[in-house]
Amino acid sequence: MPIYLDYAATTPVCPEAAQAAYEVLTGCFGNPSSGYAPGRQAAASLKGWRADIASTLGCTPAELFFTSCGTEGDNWALRASARAMRRRGNHIITTCVEHAAVLETARFLEGEGFQVTYLKPDKTGHISVEDFRAALRKETVAVSMMLVNNETGAIFPVAQCVKAAKIHNKDILFHTDAVQGFCHVPFTPKGLGVDLLTVSGHKIGAPKGIGALYIKKEIQGKIKPLLFGGLQEDGMRPGTEPTAQIAAFAAACRTAKAQSTRAMEHVRSVKEYALTHLTETVPHLAIVSPGDAPHICAVSLPGYPSQMVMNALDGRGICVSNGSACHKGKPSHVFAAMELAPDVLTGMLRISFSPASTQEEVNALAEALAEIVRERMPVMKG
Ligand code: PLP
Repeated sequence: MPIYLDYAATTPVCPEAAQAAYEVLTGCFGNPSSGYAPGRQAAASLKGWRADIASTLGCTPAELFFTSCGTEGDNWALRASARAMRRRGNHIITTCVEHAAVLETARFLEGEGFQVTYLKPDKTGHISVEDFRAALRKETVAVSMMLVNNETGAIFPVAQCVKAAKIHNKDILFHTDAVQGFCHVPFTPKGLGVDLLTVSGHKIGAPKGIGALYIKKEIQGKIKPLLFGGLQEDGMRPGTEPTAQIAAFAAACRTAKAQSTRAMEHVRSVKEYALTHLTETVPHLAIVSPGDAPHICAVSLPGYPSQMVMNALDGRGICVSNGSACHKGKPSHVFAAMELAPDVLTGMLRISFSPASTQEEVNALAEALAEIVRERMPVMKG
């Protein structure tokens, strides 16, 4: 088994989720829309699973719409909110360090005539409330700001920005991508004040292929369906429900909720150990973002190209990343936006942890990185 330290990319399916999916796949096969016993049984189970996920998120079941992934939730939320408000204005605010699911949707909306302000982070990867306030215009109609950045672990000031946006104009629709925050940092959609919020199952021990979009009750009338078809998900996101994935998502939520604070304290303590131990034992290693969220941090081996380091670690059976898994080898737009020194940018690595992570794994990573530094020469630019 490799030493896996890239839990922000995806997580293994937890035993409870695998068991829940297995039971549905082999037993409760009915279509929840069918009017006979197996259908009724599936519908009743679906109601329970939705309630479990909603209660973990802190919303009502009627505010939770299942999607196929976080990307789908982000696309739907931003596109539908901007279009809903089109007659009132054409300005959107987001940040230039969002996940590609938000950034590419924003670029698509630019093609429809929207103007988009992409807020820049500071050198630590944080977004300022003051910058957000300054970006608000008379024409601003929609905002998308993530809760936890997937590459730095920085927590963004979503609640404060919602407050500023609503004071500016109460009709602005505010979406947050909480894919990396869900079950990792404490929040509720109401507490943040957001109108829409995206989560994804595979970041918390559920299988890939299931996510959800929270849509606040009061704004549901403004949001157009993602797809057109049957009456599933209140006609907002039709398609026969993937019951096995939803059952697994609910089981992963129940497990995360039961472990909650203690598990995240462990995750944070392993990360803090890693930050200290790596700095002490790996020559030249610099901490770029310790991460506010418990599970993600970013470090750099200045001058050592991160792809080379990643490959060398992979050869030793250790998995870390040089940015979001969606970049597939392209330089990370998040690290680039932080305006780091060129050699620091070259050597950026993201390390992310789970409740299963151990100090022994960190020791193995430190040893491997120290070996790579001893064996190779840095590439100096300029
Ligand atoms: N948003 C963030 C912050 C993410 O980290 C990810 C996945 O890496 C996504 C959205 C996309 O989620 P999914 O992989 O479920 O499409």
